[in-house]
Parts: sequence; structure tokens; C-alpha cells
Amino acid sequence: MSFEDTIRYLFNATRIMDVGDRIEKLLVTPERQVKVEVAIEMDDGSLGVYEGFRVQHNDARGPYKGGLRFHHEVDQDEVNALASLMTWKTAVVGIPYGGAKGGIQVDPRGLSLAELERLTRKFTDKIEVVIGPQVDIPAPDVNTDGQTMAWIMDQYSKYHGYSPAVVTGKPIELSGSQGRVAATGRGVALCGLWALRDLGIDPAGATFAVQGLGNVGSWASRILADAGARLVAVGDHGGYLHNPEGFDVEALIAHVEENPDRSVMGFAGADEIDFDTFIASEVDLMIPAALGGVITKPVAETMRCKLIVEGANGPTKPDAHDLLVERGVMIVPDILANAGGVTCSYFEWVQNNQHFYWSEKDVNDRLEPILRKAYESVNEIATARKFDHRTAAFIMAVREVGKATVMRGI
Ligand code: GLU
Repeated sequence: MSFEDTIRYLFNATRIMDVGDRIEKLLVTPERQVKVEVAIEMDDGSLGVYEGFRVQHNDARGPYKGGLRFHHEVDQDEVNALASLMTWKTAVVGIPYGGAKGGIQVDPRGLSLAELERLTRKFTDKIEVVIGPQVDIPAPDVNTDGQTMAWIMDQYSKYHGYSPAVVTGKPIELSGSQGRVAATGRGVALCGLWALRDLGIDPAGATFAVQGLGNVGSWASRILADAGARLVAVGDHGGYLHNPEGFDVEALIAHVEENPDRSVMGFAGADEIDFDTFIASEVDLMIPAALGGVITKPVAETMRCKLIVEGANGPTKPDAHDLLVERGVMIVPDILANAGGVTCSYFEWVQNNQHFYWSEKDVNDRLEPILRKAYESVNEIATARKFDHRTAAFIMAVREVGKATVMRGI
């Protein structure tokens, strides 16, 4: 995922809407880019030095909001792109936040738990001046989870007093929200079910494929399987598997959780395939739920699915996107498809601020209508003006962020 790609999607919308140079300029550049050096003592006594980032793209509609990822490919350009996507995502679902993203350039699999904790706490020391419950609220993303958020909350609270609302995606025991862990995957699955029906495909009996069986991919698969859809191809960093009869999703997820490599590989009763065969699977629905930039133009040329629902952020390159749209493939874009996570983060923040906690049913009953409304609004713009769904979602987001920017004044 590059910043240039995000800009291309953004300019598609700003040019159609004719927002003018001034607004366009304001919407492109991140408002603050923080880069820090995070030095920690490793378990063997050596020094570990890592680059950390927090980018705050736009806060016209509310405090900056967005995840933190630990990955060896994290760099300034990627974090800028992902921060921008958060601005559009929070606007599409209409929750009162801006957009941000952060990360540390590290392969966390090479670190012990104690090293990870030191790294997270040291990073928090470096960015505590720019985050806060009313300023910028981090959350989990690639390779970070409730434990990471617990360390950040604890470290931040040492400076500012007990502050659960400084991060979301916390464990339930530490002021987290019911339903948060499943929320991103739930949103992906719901968008998948709605879009399948719009395409005239009955979800019961529909086939789907998932790249990445982490938090998002596993919950999306579970919910789709519960609705009667059949997971026939799956894969991750370890490799890809095919089972035309349909995988037992619960057993597969249990296998990944028990596998030290956290991969689907080694799951019994399936054929091994390569990435090219996987991505070209003839399925109704393809869910990329791993990293960005996987669907390039040459990859898109081979794809045979009818629908793509983007679980990951930025999985589709712009030229691949255009080609797929031309071929009539429907794409539910990341800023709509995976917005269930940040929407539930908003619920968590509201609960933290009110010190009043909701049941899982309350959470899910509030999540679905917000996503449904966003899905329908995007669909309406797409149908009425014959735009693809990504362009429609960007138009909707730019309209909201643009209005807030003008009203607040430059
Ligand atoms: N990392 C998630 C995303 O990309 C969640 C962000 C949040 O909850 O703030 O949407």
C-alpha cells in the first residue's frame, strides 16, 4: 500500500466533485508525521533499535483514530497511506473521528514477549505527547492485539492518570468492549452477504476464498460459514490450500491457533496450491484479509471471482482495481468493508467515557445498522451515478470531511 495509490483513489473523487485546489490540498497531506527511534535492551543484553511512526492525517471530524502495526515492512510512506484511509473510513461510517495510523518496523515473531512489552512501552514513551483520549486514539492492527493495547494504556496512564480511552481494542478485563475482537470480521462478512444478495447470489451455498486467517479473516469466515457459505480456498504466509467440499472453518481456525507458525498449512484433508492458483479460484467471493498491495494488475487479470470484499487495508492496486471494475467484478472497498473494527472501537471509547458497559448483543445490534446505512449510501451513489463502489465511498467520505474542514475554517 503506497501513499501514491491512496492519492489516486482520493483524486478520483475530488476531481469528480470539483472540490477545488484549496480543499484538495488540505485533504491530501497528513497534518502531523511523527517518527521516533525506539531503543530497547534485548533479552541477550544487546541493543535493539527500531523505527516507530505515528501519522495523524486529518482531525476535522473528531480526534485522530487508527491502528498500530508491528511489521518489518512498515515505513513512512505506508503509514501515511494507511492514516489517510482511516480519515475516509471513519467518514464513510459517520463516526466522529479523524484518521491516523502508526507502527513499528519490526518482525515481532523474532521477539520474546518481554522484548515486545519493552518495545511497546518505549514507543508509548515517545508518542505519549501526541496521543490522548481527546487527541489521537490508537488500536490494534497487523500483529498487535489486546495485550499490546493493555501495555500502551498502562504506560500512558503513568503520565496522565488512569486513561482507558486512550486506546481501543483493549481486553474485556481492562475496559475493553464486548464484540470488538470479532467486529472487523463481522463487518466484512455482513458486506459480503449484502453484496452477494445484490448480485443475485444466494449466500447459502455460495463459495468463498480467504487470504489471511488472522483476526479479520477468521471471524469473517466463521460468520459467512454460519450463513451457509462454503470456504473452498484459503492461505497465508505459509502457503495455500484448496478443498472443493468446503473447509470445516472451526477446525481450521483451531489448527491455525495451535500451529506455532500461525499458518493454515498442515491442515488435513486439503490440497496444497500456489498463490497463482489460489487467487484465480473460481469463487463467488474473494476476501483478501492479509496485507496491502496483493492484487496487482497481472494478478487481477487471472482472477475469476464475482465479488471482492477487502478485509485488509489497501489490498488492491489502482490499475488492478480499474481492470476488475471494467470486467464487472464488484469490489466492496476497505474503507467500507473493514470499518466494523473502528466502529466498534468508537463504541468502546463511548463506554470508557461513560464508565457504562454494554452487552455483546447491544454492541452487535448497534454495529449492524451503522454498517448497513454506510453500505446503502455507498450503493446509492454508485448506482445513481454509475460509479464503482470505491469511487462512491471516497465521494461520500470527501464530502463529509470537506464540509467539516470548511466549517471549522483553515
Ligand atoms: N486497525 C483497524 C483499521 O484499520 C482498526 C482501527 C481502530 O479501531 O482505530 O481499521
